Amino acid sequence: MSHSIRWRIAVPYMVLILIATLGLTLYLSNQVRRVRLADLESQLVAHARLLADDLAPSLSQRMDGQTFDALARRWADLLHARVTIIAADGRVLGDSHEDPARMENHLNRPEVQQALAEGQGTAIRHSATLGYDMMYGAVPVQDAAHGRVIGFVRVALSVQDIEAGIRRLRQGVVVSGLITALVGGLLALVIAERTVRPIRWLTRAADRIAQGDLKPHLVASRRDEVGQLTGAFQRMAEQLREKMSVLAEERGRLAAVLEHMADGVLITDEEGRVELVNAAAGRLLGITEEEALGRSVGQVVLQHQIIELWQRCRDLGEEQQDTVEMSHRNLFVQAIVTPFQQDEAHGFLVILQDLTRIRRLETVRRDFIANISHELRTPLAGLKALVDTLRGGALQDPPAAKRFLNRMDAEVNALTQMVEELLELSRIESGQVPLRLVPTPVASVIGPPVNWLRPQAESAQLKLSVLLPPDLPPVLADVERAQKVVTNLVHNAIKFTPPGGSVVVSAEAAGREVVVSVKDTGIGIAAEDLPRIFERFYKADRMRSGGGTGLGLAIARHIVQGHGGRIWVESVEGKGSTFYFSLPLA
Ligand code: ADP
Repeated sequence: MSHSIRWRIAVPYMVLILIATLGLTLYLSNQVRRVRLADLESQLVAHARLLADDLAPSLSQRMDGQTFDALARRWADLLHARVTIIAADGRVLGDSHEDPARMENHLNRPEVQQALAEGQGTAIRHSATLGYDMMYGAVPVQDAAHGRVIGFVRVALSVQDIEAGIRRLRQGVVVSGLITALVGGLLALVIAERTVRPIRWLTRAADRIAQGDLKPHLVASRRDEVGQLTGAFQRMAEQLREKMSVLAEERGRLAAVLEHMADGVLITDEEGRVELVNAAAGRLLGITEEEALGRSVGQVVLQHQIIELWQRCRDLGEEQQDTVEMSHRNLFVQAIVTPFQQDEAHGFLVILQDLTRIRRLETVRRDFIANISHELRTPLAGLKALVDTLRGGALQDPPAAKRFLNRMDAEVNALTQMVEELLELSRIESGQVPLRLVPTPVASVIGPPVNWLRPQAESAQLKLSVLLPPDLPPVLADVERAQKVVTNLVHNAIKFTPPGGSVVVSAEAAGREVVVSVKDTGIGIAAEDLPRIFERFYKADRMRSGGGTGLGLAIARHIVQGHGGRIWVESVEGKGSTFYFSLPLA
């Protein structure tokens, strides 16, 4: 409370008023006493003179003590004062309040001495006779004829009344001073309170701002300095609010960018504690934001190469980058660690770019080229050998030359087929020739390919049959392409089924699609090959695939997926395989 401005204003006021009152009391009482005493003095002297004139004849006649005593008492009654009549030698002749016989010689009393010397004398003294302070006024009584001093008259009055009056005056002044001090103090409190109230509002508003509440609360209703302060404060809060909203907006934008960018971003402080991690970084590192924040970079990253990169960056103070294979998460990332120092913020920025997809594509492309080269090399080497043989003399042997030419023709056909299939595959993959989807009866998709391949099945001593329910709904398909799928599947079934086996092509409606299946009793596919047989150039059994390119199933898969359908296989090695694919209903 004592620290409040109110009291700091009110207390000095009260002290000032009290000091002023005290001073005033002292000054006033002294002044009044002086005036009253002076009045009393002149009154006593005047009375004494009057008495002296009256007593002069009696004193010169040397009348007896009894008479003077009676005179003194009479005058005392008249003047309401003590009257003493003193002989010239100091003997007390009469006194209104005391027996003169018992009174000592008064010649040495100061007022008597002064009267003797100056013609009048006064003194204030405690009267032992009466028991209180008295003022004495004395004058000499002179012989009218010779001017000789024949005695003294002394009149005395109590100064008690004056003292009492002064006490009353003092009390009055002190009481009114106290009241004034109290009222003044209260007034000061009220004024201080009025002055301080807006400051308190300001304080409260400042507290609220400090707590983040930036809504406007203040109205500068006054025109004085406090009003100006409130106004200035308001403007400051306004600007702060604007700045904060700009900052919040920027922060929001930044957060959105960070959250939606594909690259992982991680910010650590100088000690390596993670301060920020975006969703992509969380995904790449397999950690949530809550788990990562506040932990060390080592605990969060769990990948020694990236941790070393961070340490190198910290030690050298330079940007470091490296490609890192995160084998435990099957990922391949480019990690960049940069030190940053912007205004107050120091730390390290770790950027993780996911290169897994690009890497995979690169691998696929490399494999693809390697596969093509490999696939082309075998038939080309065969052709080369045949040409060499012909040139080496076989031309001179017409039946042998014919045989060689037939084999060359077969090799060229195989090459042509492969090139065509590759072209087809790349056309489908690049979407150059869009599918022409039309409602088509399932029989038109299955019938023609089966008929083309029937001679091949017969020569392979296989039973090829088709099972179609009569009320099968039409499908939405590009007929030629859909036929190609069936051709590839049936062709494979014939190729991989030993003589005496059977191949059954059937179809049935299932929900919003028709599922076509090609079932054989052939050699089947090993479990480890099953997931890969739809890849380009993949051949499960190179020895027995008999001149296949490994592209047939890849093409089939692309075509089926282009129709919005699925393709899959079930197979038991040594017992046979069933390939399924689905086409949507028209
Ligand atoms: P290919 O031209 O070699 O037949 P595909 O892509 O059509 O190429 O087939 C890939 C591989 O899948 C084949 O080499 C073969 O090993 C396996 N395969 C395909 N169909 C069958 C089937 N009906 N029975 C057994 N294996 C099959």
